Amino acid sequence: MTDTQAQTPTTWLNRPVPSIKRDRIVQPSAVETEPSTECPNCHTLTTNTSLIFNQYVCPDCDHHLTMSARKRLAWFFDSITGELGQNYQAGDPLKFTDSKPYPLRMSEAQKTTGESEALIVMNGKIKNLELIACAFDFKFMGGSMGSVVGDRFVMAGEKALAERKPLVCFASSGGARMQEGLLSLMQMARTSAVIERLRLAGVPYIVVLTNPVYGGVTASLAMLGDVHIAEPRAMIGFAGKRVIEQTVREVLDEPFQRAEFLLDKGTVDMVVHRHELVDTVYRLLTKMMKLPNVS
Ligand SMILES: [Zn+2]
Repeated sequence: MTDTQAQTPTTWLNRPVPSIKRDRIVQPSAVETEPSTECPNCHTLTTNTSLIFNQYVCPDCDHHLTMSARKRLAWFFDSITGELGQNYQAGDPLKFTDSKPYPLRMSEAQKTTGESEALIVMNGKIKNLELIACAFDFKFMGGSMGSVVGDRFVMAGEKALAERKPLVCFASSGGARMQEGLLSLMQMARTSAVIERLRLAGVPYIVVLTNPVYGGVTASLAMLGDVHIAEPRAMIGFAGKRVIEQTVREVLDEPFQRAEFLLDKGTVDMVVHRHELVDTVYRLLTKMMKLPNVS
């Protein structure tokens, strides 16, 4: 450095620019970069990939997250042969309007879930066992049971009966669909009738109660299984806890209406962790059908 350079006064032209901090000190975690889901119980964020690998069970608190009907059946079956009852579409016979017309509510639910109705029916296989399974989608108008849900369930039952394949139902519902009035209540009788025909023919019907199951669905198809399995801490009841508290004028603390409470009272036969659920259903069905159990 020469003397001339050393004596050059500092102006805005030659003033050194403060360096820009380019690198973050803390590298972003996988949760920040990958699509993640917050556990509704412990509020921990888990990446969707980890959740899929853990069968939608929170790795931190073991909370069983809600699964959509399609995800549920894809998870349950080893292979899917086909879907049933897709051609059934709901009408609006009562021209029902509350805060918005029923057809508008339906189209919104269809847009949100990508499903045409609240019950999906599929046939497929678990190991060597062919069976029919249906699942409620709670995000589709609270998994409510309208005419199409009834139609699809009856169709599943009749196919199970004709082909002597067991029927499994993953229930998750708020009850009957009020927008269809009496027509939705009639589905309780229709679904109960087909279940009775299955029972008389000796075709197994297993219900898996997933969080939550209430109302007309509890009062019909969800409580008429040969075996009732519930997922841990699932809320199961007919009327909601608050309604019962107001009626009996009593505070009903935890674990009222939880799966474990109902197991204790004998309403539910077993509470099974989701990691063991498919094996449990498979073992039960092979025993009931006197088939070889392929382990
Ligand atoms: Zn959690």
